[in-house]
Amino acid sequence: MSNERSGSTLIENILTKSSQIVSVGETYLLGGYIHKVGPGFTWDWNCSCGNSLLECDFWNKIYRHLNISDPREIKNTKIIYPKRKDKGRQKSKNDEVASLMNQIYASVFETANCSIVVDSSKKAFHGTSLYQNSPYNFKFIYLKRDLRAVTFSKQKWRKKYGAKDISLLKLLIANYIHRLWCFIMLRKVNKKDVFYLKYEDFFERPQQTLDDMSKFFGFDSYEMPEFMELVNDHTIAGTPNRFEKRKIKYDAKWLSNVKKHPLINALGIILNKIG
Ligand SMILES: [Zn+2]
Repeated sequence: MSNERSGSTLIENILTKSSQIVSVGETYLLGGYIHKVGPGFTWDWNCSCGNSLLECDFWNKIYRHLNISDPREIKNTKIIYPKRKDKGRQKSKNDEVASLMNQIYASVFETANCSIVVDSSKKAFHGTSLYQNSPYNFKFIYLKRDLRAVTFSKQKWRKKYGAKDISLLKLLIANYIHRLWCFIMLRKVNKKDVFYLKYEDFFERPQQTLDDMSKFFGFDSYEMPEFMELVNDHTIAGTPNRFEKRKIKYDAKWLSNVKKHPLINALGIILNKIG
Protein backbone atom coordinates (compact mmCIF):
# COMPACT_ATOMS: atom_id res chain seq x y z
CA MET A 1 0.00 0.00 0.00
CA SER A 2 1.43 3.36 -1.00
CA ASN A 3 0.98 6.51 -2.99
CA GLU A 4 2.40 6.69 -6.49
CA ARG A 5 6.02 7.84 -6.79
CA SER A 6 6.85 6.44 -3.35
CA GLY A 7 9.38 3.78 -4.36
CA SER A 8 7.08 0.74 -4.43
CA THR A 9 8.66 -0.62 -7.64
CA LEU A 10 12.10 -0.41 -6.04
CA ILE A 11 10.97 -2.25 -2.90
CA GLU A 12 9.23 -4.86 -5.04
CA ASN A 13 12.37 -5.30 -7.14
CA ILE A 14 14.58 -5.72 -4.07
CA LEU A 15 12.20 -8.36 -2.68
CA THR A 16 12.24 -10.39 -5.91
CA LYS A 17 15.97 -11.00 -5.33
CA SER A 18 14.90 -13.56 -2.71
CA SER A 19 14.57 -17.06 -4.16
CA GLN A 20 11.40 -17.52 -2.07
CA ILE A 21 9.58 -14.49 -3.48
CA VAL A 22 7.86 -13.83 -6.80
CA SER A 23 6.37 -10.48 -7.69
CA VAL A 24 3.48 -10.06 -10.09
CA GLY A 25 3.58 -6.26 -10.08
CA GLU A 26 0.38 -4.23 -9.97
CA THR A 27 -2.31 -6.83 -10.68
CA TYR A 28 -4.86 -4.06 -10.14
CA LEU A 29 -3.92 -3.10 -13.71
CA LEU A 30 -3.86 -6.65 -15.17
CA GLY A 31 -7.20 -6.23 -16.98
CA GLY A 32 -6.04 -2.92 -18.45
CA TYR A 33 -2.73 -4.46 -19.57
CA ILE A 34 -4.45 -7.40 -21.28
CA HIS A 35 -6.82 -5.08 -23.15
CA LYS A 36 -4.25 -2.29 -23.62
CA VAL A 37 -6.27 0.46 -21.97
CA GLY A 38 -5.44 2.88 -19.14
CA PRO A 39 -1.97 3.47 -17.70
CA GLY A 40 0.88 1.65 -19.52
CA PHE A 41 0.68 3.23 -22.98
CA THR A 42 4.38 4.26 -22.98
CA TRP A 43 5.58 0.63 -23.00
CA ASP A 44 2.59 -0.68 -24.97
CA TRP A 45 1.22 -2.33 -21.79
CA ASN A 46 3.89 -5.03 -22.02
CA CYS A 47 4.91 -7.32 -19.19
CA SER A 48 8.31 -6.37 -17.73
CA CYS A 49 9.82 -9.27 -19.79
CA GLY A 50 9.02 -7.22 -22.93
CA ASN A 51 6.22 -9.47 -24.23
CA SER A 52 2.57 -8.54 -24.32
CA LEU A 53 0.29 -10.03 -21.67
CA LEU A 54 -1.09 -12.32 -24.38
CA GLU A 55 2.38 -13.64 -25.32
CA CYS A 56 4.29 -13.74 -22.05
CA ASP A 57 5.18 -17.35 -21.06
CA PHE A 58 4.75 -16.73 -17.35
CA TRP A 59 1.30 -15.21 -17.66
CA ASN A 60 0.23 -17.90 -20.15
CA LYS A 61 1.05 -20.53 -17.52
CA ILE A 62 -1.15 -18.62 -15.10
CA TYR A 63 -4.07 -18.43 -17.58
CA ARG A 64 -3.76 -22.18 -18.26
CA HIS A 65 -3.77 -22.86 -14.55
CA LEU A 66 -6.91 -20.75 -14.26
CA ASN A 67 -8.48 -22.76 -17.09
CA ILE A 68 -8.81 -19.65 -19.21
CA SER A 69 -8.30 -20.32 -22.92
CA ASP A 70 -8.34 -16.66 -23.96
CA PRO A 71 -6.83 -14.19 -21.47
CA ARG A 72 -9.10 -11.50 -22.92
CA GLU A 73 -11.82 -13.16 -20.85
CA ILE A 74 -10.15 -11.37 -17.93
CA LYS A 75 -11.67 -7.91 -18.04
CA ASN A 76 -11.94 -6.33 -14.65
CA THR A 77 -9.21 -6.64 -12.01
CA LYS A 78 -10.02 -3.58 -9.91
CA ILE A 79 -11.82 -3.55 -6.58
CA ILE A 80 -13.37 -0.09 -6.40
CA TYR A 81 -14.93 1.75 -3.47
CA PRO A 82 -18.68 1.61 -4.23
CA LYS A 83 -20.63 4.78 -4.83
CA ARG A 84 -23.73 5.04 -2.65
CA LYS A 85 -26.20 4.75 -5.51
CA ASP A 86 -24.89 1.49 -6.97
CA LYS A 87 -23.44 -0.14 -3.91
CA GLY A 88 -25.01 -3.57 -4.59
CA ARG A 89 -23.83 -3.83 -8.19
CA GLN A 90 -20.29 -2.68 -7.38
CA LYS A 91 -20.13 -5.08 -4.44
CA SER A 92 -20.90 -8.08 -6.61
CA LYS A 93 -18.32 -6.90 -9.19
CA ASN A 94 -15.80 -6.52 -6.36
CA ASP A 95 -16.55 -10.03 -5.08
CA GLU A 96 -15.85 -11.41 -8.55
CA VAL A 97 -12.49 -9.58 -8.69
CA ALA A 98 -11.53 -10.81 -5.20
CA SER A 99 -12.29 -14.38 -6.21
CA LEU A 100 -10.27 -14.01 -9.45
CA MET A 101 -7.33 -12.50 -7.55
CA ASN A 102 -7.28 -15.36 -5.06
CA GLN A 103 -7.23 -17.81 -7.98
CA ILE A 104 -4.39 -15.87 -9.61
CA TYR A 105 -2.38 -15.92 -6.38
CA ALA A 106 -3.01 -19.69 -6.07
CA SER A 107 -1.76 -20.17 -9.65
CA VAL A 108 1.35 -18.08 -9.02
CA PHE A 109 2.18 -19.99 -5.82
CA GLU A 110 1.88 -23.24 -7.72
CA THR A 111 3.46 -22.43 -11.09
CA ALA A 112 6.30 -20.32 -9.71
CA ASN A 113 6.83 -22.59 -6.70
CA CYS A 114 7.40 -19.74 -4.28
CA SER A 115 6.34 -19.19 -0.69
CA ILE A 116 5.62 -15.44 -0.98
CA VAL A 117 3.84 -13.52 -3.73
CA VAL A 118 4.30 -9.76 -3.86
CA ASP A 119 1.48 -7.71 -5.34
CA SER A 120 2.42 -4.06 -5.62
CA SER A 121 -1.04 -2.78 -6.61
CA LYS A 122 -0.72 -0.01 -4.00
CA LYS A 123 -4.47 0.76 -3.89
CA ALA A 124 -5.73 0.93 -0.31
CA PHE A 125 -9.36 -0.14 -0.79
CA HIS A 126 -8.42 -2.87 -3.28
CA GLY A 127 -5.79 -4.28 -0.92
CA THR A 128 -7.82 -4.17 2.27
CA SER A 129 -10.80 -5.77 0.49
CA LEU A 130 -8.57 -8.61 -0.68
CA TYR A 131 -7.19 -8.94 2.84
CA GLN A 132 -10.67 -9.39 4.27
CA ASN A 133 -11.46 -12.17 1.78
CA SER A 134 -8.09 -13.85 1.67
CA PRO A 135 -7.46 -17.54 2.34
CA TYR A 136 -3.76 -16.64 2.57
CA ASN A 137 -1.58 -15.15 5.24
CA PHE A 138 -2.03 -11.71 3.71
CA LYS A 139 0.27 -8.96 4.94
CA PHE A 140 0.83 -5.35 3.96
CA ILE A 141 3.84 -3.17 3.46
CA TYR A 142 2.59 0.34 4.08
CA LEU A 143 5.19 2.45 2.31
CA LYS A 144 5.40 6.15 3.12
CA ARG A 145 7.65 8.70 1.49
CA ASP A 146 8.23 12.38 2.31
CA LEU A 147 5.17 14.19 0.89
CA ARG A 148 7.36 16.86 -0.66
CA ALA A 149 9.40 14.29 -2.59
CA VAL A 150 6.20 12.60 -3.86
CA THR A 151 4.79 16.00 -4.89
CA PHE A 152 7.87 17.08 -6.89
CA SER A 153 8.27 13.65 -8.44
CA LYS A 154 4.64 13.61 -9.58
CA GLN A 155 4.99 17.08 -11.05
CA LYS A 156 8.13 16.03 -12.95
CA TRP A 157 6.41 12.99 -14.50
CA ARG A 158 3.23 14.91 -15.25
CA LYS A 159 5.32 17.43 -17.23
CA LYS A 160 7.16 14.64 -19.02
CA TYR A 161 3.92 12.99 -20.13
CA GLY A 162 2.17 16.27 -20.98
CA ALA A 163 -0.50 15.77 -18.31
CA LYS A 164 -2.68 18.67 -17.17
CA ASP A 165 -0.76 21.17 -15.08
CA ILE A 166 -1.67 20.96 -11.39
CA SER A 167 -0.20 23.38 -8.86
CA LEU A 168 2.33 22.03 -6.36
CA LEU A 169 0.00 23.05 -3.53
CA LYS A 170 -2.90 21.01 -4.94
CA LEU A 171 -0.61 18.03 -5.53
CA LEU A 172 0.73 18.26 -1.97
CA ILE A 173 -2.79 18.41 -0.47
CA ALA A 174 -3.93 15.51 -2.68
CA ASN A 175 -0.94 13.47 -1.48
CA TYR A 176 -1.81 14.21 2.11
CA ILE A 177 -5.46 13.21 1.54
CA HIS A 178 -4.17 9.96 0.03
CA ARG A 179 -2.25 9.37 3.24
CA LEU A 180 -5.40 9.91 5.32
CA TRP A 181 -7.26 7.49 3.07
CA CYS A 182 -4.59 4.80 3.66
CA PHE A 183 -4.81 5.48 7.40
CA ILE A 184 -8.61 5.00 7.36
CA MET A 185 -8.35 1.83 5.25
CA LEU A 186 -5.67 0.36 7.51
CA ARG A 187 -8.12 0.46 10.42
CA LYS A 188 -9.70 -2.62 8.79
CA VAL A 189 -6.39 -4.47 9.11
CA ASN A 190 -4.90 -6.17 12.14
CA LYS A 191 -1.81 -4.15 13.15
CA LYS A 192 0.31 -7.29 13.32
CA ASP A 193 -0.23 -7.74 9.57
CA VAL A 194 1.26 -4.37 8.60
CA PHE A 195 4.94 -3.64 8.03
CA TYR A 196 5.36 0.14 8.26
CA LEU A 197 8.13 1.27 5.96
CA LYS A 198 9.50 4.77 5.53
CA TYR A 199 11.26 5.16 2.20
CA GLU A 200 13.85 7.49 3.75
CA ASP A 201 14.61 5.06 6.61
CA PHE A 202 15.13 2.34 4.07
CA PHE A 203 17.99 4.29 2.51
CA GLU A 204 19.48 5.09 5.90
CA ARG A 205 19.58 1.45 6.99
CA PRO A 206 19.01 -0.68 3.87
CA GLN A 207 20.37 -4.02 5.11
CA GLN A 208 18.77 -3.61 8.54
CA THR A 209 15.39 -2.82 6.96
CA LEU A 210 15.63 -5.79 4.60
CA ASP A 211 16.50 -8.03 7.57
CA ASP A 212 13.50 -6.63 9.49
CA MET A 213 11.30 -7.48 6.51
CA SER A 214 12.74 -10.99 6.31
CA LYS A 215 11.81 -11.56 9.96
CA PHE A 216 8.37 -10.03 9.56
CA PHE A 217 7.41 -11.91 6.39
CA GLY A 218 9.35 -15.08 7.15
CA PHE A 219 11.80 -15.31 4.26
CA ASP A 220 15.52 -16.06 4.62
CA SER A 221 17.62 -12.92 4.89
CA TYR A 222 19.93 -12.07 2.00
CA GLU A 223 22.38 -9.38 1.02
CA MET A 224 20.84 -6.08 -0.08
CA PRO A 225 21.30 -5.88 -3.88
CA GLU A 226 23.40 -3.06 -5.26
CA PHE A 227 21.27 -2.51 -8.36
CA MET A 228 17.63 -2.26 -9.29
CA GLU A 229 17.24 -4.51 -12.33
CA LEU A 230 14.76 -6.86 -13.90
CA VAL A 231 15.93 -10.48 -13.81
CA ASN A 232 13.38 -13.03 -15.06
CA ASP A 233 10.62 -10.79 -13.76
CA HIS A 234 7.08 -10.78 -15.13
CA THR A 235 5.59 -7.81 -13.40
CA ILE A 236 2.78 -5.50 -14.43
CA ALA A 237 3.32 -1.74 -14.40
CA GLY A 238 5.72 0.12 -12.11
CA THR A 239 7.96 3.13 -12.42
CA PRO A 240 8.97 4.05 -15.98
CA ASN A 241 12.62 3.81 -14.84
CA ARG A 242 12.44 0.11 -14.14
CA PHE A 243 13.71 -1.09 -17.53
CA GLU A 244 17.26 0.21 -17.01
CA LYS A 245 19.68 -1.31 -14.56
CA ARG A 246 20.24 1.38 -11.91
CA LYS A 247 22.37 1.67 -8.84
CA ILE A 248 20.15 1.77 -5.77
CA LYS A 249 20.70 5.13 -4.13
CA TYR A 250 18.61 7.86 -2.56
CA ASP A 251 17.37 10.30 -5.18
CA ALA A 252 17.78 13.71 -3.53
CA LYS A 253 17.19 15.89 -6.61
CA TRP A 254 13.86 17.11 -5.22
CA LEU A 255 15.68 18.73 -2.27
CA SER A 256 17.18 21.45 -4.45
CA ASN A 257 13.78 22.02 -6.09
CA VAL A 258 11.89 22.33 -2.83
CA LYS A 259 14.18 25.17 -1.69
CA LYS A 260 12.71 27.32 -4.48
CA HIS A 261 9.21 26.84 -2.98
CA PRO A 262 9.41 27.81 0.70
CA LEU A 263 5.63 27.64 1.28
CA ILE A 264 5.35 24.09 -0.13
CA ASN A 265 8.45 23.14 1.84
CA ALA A 266 7.04 24.44 5.15
CA LEU A 267 3.59 22.96 4.62
CA GLY A 268 5.12 19.64 3.52
CA ILE A 269 7.21 19.47 6.67
CA ILE A 270 4.14 20.11 8.85
CA LEU A 271 1.99 17.52 7.01
CA ASN A 272 4.81 14.94 7.21
CA LYS A 273 4.89 15.48 10.97
CA ILE A 274 1.11 15.10 11.40
CA GLY A 275 1.43 11.63 9.94
ZN1 LIG B 1 6.41 -11.62 -18.90
